[in-house]
Amino acid sequence: MRLIFIGPPGVGKGTQATLIKDHFDILHLSTGDILREEIAQQSTVGIKAKSFMDRGYLVPDNILLEMMEKRLQQPDSENGYLLDGFPRTIPQAEGLDDILERTNQVLDAVVSIELDTDTIVKRLSSRRSCKQCDSITNLLFNPPKTEGRCDICSGELVQRSDDKDEVVLNRLTVYNEQTAPLLDYYTNKGLIITIDGQGDIAVIKNNILEVLA
Ligand code: AMP
Repeated sequence: MRLIFIGPPGVGKGTQATLIKDHFDILHLSTGDILREEIAQQSTVGIKAKSFMDRGYLVPDNILLEMMEKRLQQPDSENGYLLDGFPRTIPQAEGLDDILERTNQVLDAVVSIELDTDTIVKRLSSRRSCKQCDSITNLLFNPPKTEGRCDICSGELVQRSDDKDEVVLNRLTVYNEQTAPLLDYYTNKGLIITIDGQGDIAVIKNNILEVLA
């Protein structure tokens, strides 16, 4: 199974991606997570990516394509994968098509999760992640048992620098201008599945599984 998850920031992509990869036992590759790890390690890629990410802009296509080409050649991707946050531009989608062709692989589906802008902004401004284990929680929808502390490991809960209101609005503009055109790109290939991102997490997961069956 090879899947792509597309949707604006805050739509619940990462949450659903984690559930669906567990269901199919495939690799979950979140380019946002990979880039944040590169930044933590102060690698060359991380240093280049940081200034774009802090301002809510996309990291240049050539950096992403080189990073993902290397990642998708590793043996753990052989049984399938779920790409979360990649591709995010038409050149990235074309680059991914080249990689797939060269490795004799095909995509099974592109899952597009949709949600209205007001709900997205509300979700992102109340989203917190654990400094220690990276798990995500939401102060409004899934508040931690102890204020400011992760339910899983008691690590400190922090707001991602790009979840601050002014950066969120920029990320949404970037999504509409650069990523939304991918919906037509994959519709033309007959791969798009559209899912309503509003509502209960388990119900949304089941809706995704139903259409993938
Ligand atoms: P995410 O965690 O998916 O919301 O990604 C956080 C940030 O990482 C984005 O706002 C971008 O700056 C950067 N990023 C993640 N994936 C990509 C991508 N495919 N292309 C360019 N930038 C990306």
